[in-house]
Amino acid sequence: MKPIPYGKQFIDDEDIKAVVDVLKSDFLTQGPKVKEFEQEFAKKTGTKYAVAVANGTAALHLSNLAIGISEGDKVLTTPISFVATSNSVLYCGGKVDFVDIDSKTYTIDIDKLEQKINSASQGTYKAIIPVDLAGYPVNMEKIKKIADKHGLKIIEDACHAPGGYFVDSKGNKQTVGNCAYSDLAIFSFHPVKHIAAGEGGMITTNNEELYHKLIELRTHGITKNPQKLTENHGGWYYEMHSLGFNYRLSDIHSALGLTQLRKLDKSVQRRQEIAEKYNKAFSSNPKIKIPFATKSISHAYHLYIIQVPDRKGLYDYLKQNNIFAQVHYIPIHLQPFYRKLGWKKGDLPVAEDYYDHALSLPMYPTLTEEEQDYVIEKVLEFVK
Ligand SMILES: *Cc1c(COP(=O)(O)O)cnc(C)c1O
Repeated sequence: MKPIPYGKQFIDDEDIKAVVDVLKSDFLTQGPKVKEFEQEFAKKTGTKYAVAVANGTAALHLSNLAIGISEGDKVLTTPISFVATSNSVLYCGGKVDFVDIDSKTYTIDIDKLEQKINSASQGTYKAIIPVDLAGYPVNMEKIKKIADKHGLKIIEDACHAPGGYFVDSKGNKQTVGNCAYSDLAIFSFHPVKHIAAGEGGMITTNNEELYHKLIELRTHGITKNPQKLTENHGGWYYEMHSLGFNYRLSDIHSALGLTQLRKLDKSVQRRQEIAEKYNKAFSSNPKIKIPFATKSISHAYHLYIIQVPDRKGLYDYLKQNNIFAQVHYIPIHLQPFYRKLGWKKGDLPVAEDYYDHALSLPMYPTLTEEEQDYVIEKVLEFVK
């Protein structure tokens, strides 16, 4: 058996042709593919606007800036995510306050979130960044209810969940990243995510003002929009209005992102099939906790996370058998950098207990039946 990783991109001839076509064209960056990618992404998620950026981390950084996070502003998020989620608040001079996770969904505990906000004085917090961990779509309607009561902004970190949805209290399907109940949503196109563009990110929003801020911040804070200029010296003229960055995405990446986006539905469907097969194999084993899902969500299964009593033992056993499982994630508050900010073991017990037992098994569209059977066999061999 060849080595089996926990995740892998799928690139076909159509993807390769799309990239080669850009290489033969006049624009490698700032050309038509970026716009095309943005428009199709907005359509897919059901938002008015989409802004393509260099990566998911840049998407988070710009989103924090756009909603006005600055020196000393407090933002609430989950400790079980990639470090980029909370780091993005710190980039802006803000402070991170972690809320423990829900023991079923492994996403931010909405009750604890509400308690935390209620017990603080009004105005303590500026924003919430929920994360759709592993592809589980957070109920953004519930988050929005709390946020509105206290005037907080919401950035949904949807890196794990493009193609997923949850059903709201009115019975409507809410596609992940449609911003029906958030200000902004962000995505990553790192190869291990659903849409592999090499590197890349996207921000979606329905808010025109935020959209214009993001566009400006993405390119050095520079505008050429005649309506915004304070003077106009001629066709070459531009003005810098804010301290922005070069967070642009190239046409090469956008072309690949586009063809990958067109395969999203199929790839999510395949991921759900793989999850179903794992569920069937593991659900009767009392030592294996399978991912939580209900009929009112469509789980996008970026990851398939199980919990077992001896996680390190299973990780090592699978590795010996050429199966490269992974752990998502080490609680952010226990990273040495965050400990220096005052966080310590015991602060977020549910997240810490989750970390002790969680393991991500191989999950990607091209995982074959034979490979999955082998993974299942090895897991069950160890967890008797
Ligand atoms: C991947 C990821 C990011 C960062 O995306 P990059 O494109 O790697 O910068 C942020 N948040 C989550 C939850 C992620 O999985």
